[in-house]
Amino acid sequence: MIQDNYGRGVSYLRLSITDRCNLRCFYCRPGKGSQFIPHKNILTYEDMLYLLHAASGMDVQKVRLTGGEPFVRRDILYFLHRLKSELPEMEIRLTSNATLIAGKIRALRDIGIKGLNISLDTLDRDKYQRITGQDKLDNVMASIDRCLEEGIRVKINAVALKGINDDELGDFIRLAMQKPLDVRFIEFMPIGEKSLWKEDYYWSSSDLLLQAAEIAEMVPVGSLSRNHGPARMFRPGRGLGRVGVISPLSEHFCGTCNRLRITANGRLRTCLFSDKEYNLLPLIRSRKIGPDRLRLVMERAGRRKPMGHKLWSREKQENSLCRRVMSSIGG
Ligand code: SAM
Repeated sequence: MIQDNYGRGVSYLRLSITDRCNLRCFYCRPGKGSQFIPHKNILTYEDMLYLLHAASGMDVQKVRLTGGEPFVRRDILYFLHRLKSELPEMEIRLTSNATLIAGKIRALRDIGIKGLNISLDTLDRDKYQRITGQDKLDNVMASIDRCLEEGIRVKINAVALKGINDDELGDFIRLAMQKPLDVRFIEFMPIGEKSLWKEDYYWSSSDLLLQAAEIAEMVPVGSLSRNHGPARMFRPGRGLGRVGVISPLSEHFCGTCNRLRITANGRLRTCLFSDKEYNLLPLIRSRKIGPDRLRLVMERAGRRKPMGHKLWSREKQENSLCRRVMSSIGG
């Protein structure tokens, strides 16, 4: 198993399968032009399978496919199918904006995808268009309902943005009361070279929970419920679903971080907040070298996994912690 110098074990990979996205969320991919990774450097599905086989030999038990938007990648269902059949023990998760999944939900269920994390920052159609640049809210809401009908667990992730979606807290709580899904608010992080992060947007989890308690009784969900990751979850009133917060800034969870990230061009990042990257692409592509060498590099890199919150206090520049934007790291 990959073990770092702080005694943390790594059992979870977040793999960005593309840096391209069909949405243009103002805080995620700011700036005018987009510089994408050239196609020849993007991991192929064969590359990814090779990497994941190697990782599973190091006790990595869970992979989250992210992006960019994973569903802009052609033949993703084919890849999921192969991944599931070649590594049946590996838990597969996906993070998506759910704008492109409408015709794929039954197939996802059939492949064995048990849950989807769906990014959704607003329940207001006009605002959705202003945030993302696209008029797709109805489409997303319909896909959420279809996922629930097919028995796919839904976790909605909303970036908590003061002045943007704090007026919708009640609507999100009501959504979680009416439908059996989780809504999780994640604190806005200062990521990416031209990050728009500023104090004015920062809506802390503690403020959010105080406001939530004025809207509904927020009953903490005990430790018996598994799979929360770094989220603190609550059941609002007698609701069907749950509401929670993820607080990377106000209550960092570096001490229990068990993840490594791989970008779409095969760069290993041991911490979201650190720009230190290890280029795995040549090791993945030169199959003659064999997976042991790849595992060795991952193991050595993993050992040096930093405590992200220390970088936060030490290296904080203006308004961004690392240069790569979230859509290119794989959020
Ligand atoms: N396209 C997919 C999606 O929308 O879920 C996956 C990639 S997207 C980069 C992953 C998540 O990162 C989204 O929920 C997005 O809102 C979040 N995100 C992007 N920039 C962020 C930031 N600065 N702070 C917190 N979350 C951020």
